[in-house]
Amino acid sequence: MSARAVEIRAAVLEDKGAPLRVETLLLDPPRHDEVLVRVAAAGVCHSDLHLAQGHLGDGRWPVVLGHEGAGVVEAAGESVTHVRPGDRVAFCFVPSCGECRMCVAGRPHLCEPAADRSLAGTLMDGTSRLRRPDGTPIKHFLTVSCFAERCVVPAAGAVPIGDDLPLWQAALVGCGVVTGVGAVRNAARVAEGESVCVIGCGGVGLQVVSGARLARAGRIVAVDRDPAKLALARARGATEVLEAGRDARAALRERLPGGFDHAFEVIGRADTMRLAWDVLRPAGQATIVGIAPAGVELSLRALDLLSEKTLRGSYYGSADVAAELPALVALAAAGEIDLAGVVSHVVGLDEIEEAMGRLRRGEGARTVVVMDSDLAGREPQDG
Ligand SMILES: [Zn+2]
Ligand SMILES: [Zn+2]
Repeated sequence: MSARAVEIRAAVLEDKGAPLRVETLLLDPPRHDEVLVRVAAAGVCHSDLHLAQGHLGDGRWPVVLGHEGAGVVEAAGESVTHVRPGDRVAFCFVPSCGECRMCVAGRPHLCEPAADRSLAGTLMDGTSRLRRPDGTPIKHFLTVSCFAERCVVPAAGAVPIGDDLPLWQAALVGCGVVTGVGAVRNAARVAEGESVCVIGCGGVGLQVVSGARLARAGRIVAVDRDPAKLALARARGATEVLEAGRDARAALRERLPGGFDHAFEVIGRADTMRLAWDVLRPAGQATIVGIAPAGVELSLRALDLLSEKTLRGSYYGSADVAAELPALVALAAAGEIDLAGVVSHVVGLDEIEEAMGRLRRGEGARTVVVMDSDLAGREPQDG
């Protein structure tokens, strides 16, 4: 293992609302319980945009964004036993400690120290491996920071995934797929034949649709404003689609007058969360996957509680990600979860700000940023 810092090209967010700029940074070597990964490809996700716009709180910059990605291990600290140099890994952005209250309770995705360090922009020991050549410290994002040629992550943040899936596709499993499919399996526990309404068919919403199909749900109604996204939802197993307008509530009631067993909100807005609640049958469950900006409040009609509906959030698929991620990669490799179809753009690191712009404008589906086309198994393309 090299004991010296390496130079990397990385996309840095300097301040709230600033464009991402690619710079040369210094990356310190991994400590004893960390892993150095050569990044093959990374997905550009709404959470990156949320942080860049200041929706996740202030003081989180300068930072290297990027939290879903895949690559190849280059070096591992002496306490790391589960991966070796040369192993292909996908990132898990909650590197659970295994010892805190949440980890012990079987909810490693809510690991308390991991959440604290994420908020602080450090790795698990409270320090950063990233700095400018002039010494300015740079923060990590969700302990990953994979909008870069290389990154150092906590050992638990590098999950070995085998060789069956090209890394440009595997890059998408660690956030969108875990979050979407996990919400269906682990948070809602959708059973065979149950009715499901999916509100919002972006990258994660489409994986909720896939999860509902894999759970053998009955009716799967997908709702979105964008007909193109609805077509993608249909291809993934939605049995019906609804182009959202002012009367979505009435239209959904007409489709299923008794209400849905499950509704998923995958946008992050109070009005669509309320819609998910309103379309439930008695004792149905609304599962909120979308991330609302800080300060947004949600109101419900209290009398509805007599019908024993449930409203719950689902973070990161409510999953033991390290345990579930390899199985999800295998499902993707077997064609049961479509990844290529949710990718609208494949670009190089220098085009990353354009990808953020598309997200801001709600254009296209996922952008995959390819850092190393040999490792990723795919070249960047124009547009
Ligand atoms: Zn994400
Ligand atoms: Zn923990």
